[in-house]
Amino acid sequence: MAKIQMKTPLVEMDGDEMTRIIWKLIKEKLILPFVDLKTEYYDLGLPHRNETNDQVTVDSAIATKKYGVAVKCATITPNAERMTEYDLKEMWKSPNGTIRAMLDGTVFRAPIMVKGLVPYIPTWRKPITIARHAYGDVYKNVEMKVEKGSKAELAVTAPDGTETRRTIFDFQNSDGIIQGLHNVDASIESFARTCLSYGLDTHQDVWFATKDTISKTYDHRFKDIFAKIYEEEFKEKFEKAGIEYFYTLIDDAVARVIRSEGGYIWACKNYDGDVMSDMVATAYGSLAMMTSVLVSPDGVYEYEAAHGTVQRHYYKYLGGEPTSTNSVATIFAWSGALRKRGELDHLPELVRFANTLEKATIDTIEDGIMTGDLYLTSQLENKVKVGTEDFLTVIGNKLSSLL
Ligand code: NAP
Ligand code: MG
Repeated sequence: MAKIQMKTPLVEMDGDEMTRIIWKLIKEKLILPFVDLKTEYYDLGLPHRNETNDQVTVDSAIATKKYGVAVKCATITPNAERMTEYDLKEMWKSPNGTIRAMLDGTVFRAPIMVKGLVPYIPTWRKPITIARHAYGDVYKNVEMKVEKGSKAELAVTAPDGTETRRTIFDFQNSDGIIQGLHNVDASIESFARTCLSYGLDTHQDVWFATKDTISKTYDHRFKDIFAKIYEEEFKEKFEKAGIEYFYTLIDDAVARVIRSEGGYIWACKNYDGDVMSDMVATAYGSLAMMTSVLVSPDGVYEYEAAHGTVQRHYYKYLGGEPTSTNSVATIFAWSGALRKRGELDHLPELVRFANTLEKATIDTIEDGIMTGDLYLTSQLENKVKVGTEDFLTVIGNKLSSLL
């Protein structure tokens, strides 16, 4: 069989530990036999980030802007332990943080659903995709302890020097605490635009919610910006596509999410997204089955798994012990990136390959062949636990037969 051809390269960002092992196996067993793979390779493994003073991370983000589509392996975010383990020159920042900031991107996380893995909310029959606004609010706050007898005020100095003051609270009877939050219109606009574009792209409704009844200026600003961008830039396209933009109060949204059947994008303010993404991921059953894509407002895509480098399994692997690490989310990062590349370059064969790779992966699990994490929770009766490499071999065989 002739290999499927590509036009534009994918930006390939390699990573660390067990996911780096999986990365190589996925390419060997599931991609290279079928696709004449073109990538521009960046090694974001911690040793190479350290050698290049993290320049490689910046270069990979620049390449992503240039080519439009990237696929990323999980990477270590250094902490004190990693400083000694890898003899680092500096505690390099999280690559995901660096790339997200350079692309001004929003992260969309969605579960991969398979028969036998039933969400804790049994009515969730389709994935719920969570998009978290990754700028401002409590994550860029200023906070203080306040002594009894003090008065706390908000003061804003306008460009012409005039000052506006508002009392936050008179602490006459007790010590207390205060917090200053901010956000910027440009960031909220990018977030709104990216969420609404992604809704169109994936043909799903978009939900957004804030506490605008209580926060009549701050949260209301989010609501107004979303409404304006929807009206001016998306309303017609949504109506044509038969999808909906839906705004409600955050409490109402939470209640509706629980009794929904899924199948939409839930755009969340920063804190809501932080909290709700952990709840939704857990309710779907497995972090190893959660995909993640970073999308920029100008339509650049970076695909990855939502989980980390699976350090504990890596140490077992290094010690020569058998492992059973789930590669599904990393496979879907590759299929997502190849499909997007195929769509952008008008390569239907590549799109078909990506879809078939996902089908082969899901079919394998639904036939009962799965890694240890899924084996523990799957409700299938004929289930068999296999090791990291065997799982990929079985998917590879299935893929050959489907193509
Ligand atoms: P982790 O890699 O997500 O793994 C935590 C635990 O979850 C594992 O020990 C394993 O549980 C289970 N797990 C996660 N993914 C799995 C998979 N694919 N297959 C089977 N089990 C899986 O988180 P971590 O160990 O806390 O972090 C390790 C490193 O990853 C850290 O250095 C962190 O900085 C980095 N990280 C990177 C990213 C990213 O690049 N996007 C995201 C998060 C964390 P059992 O051990 O019980 O089997
Ligand atoms: Mg969180």
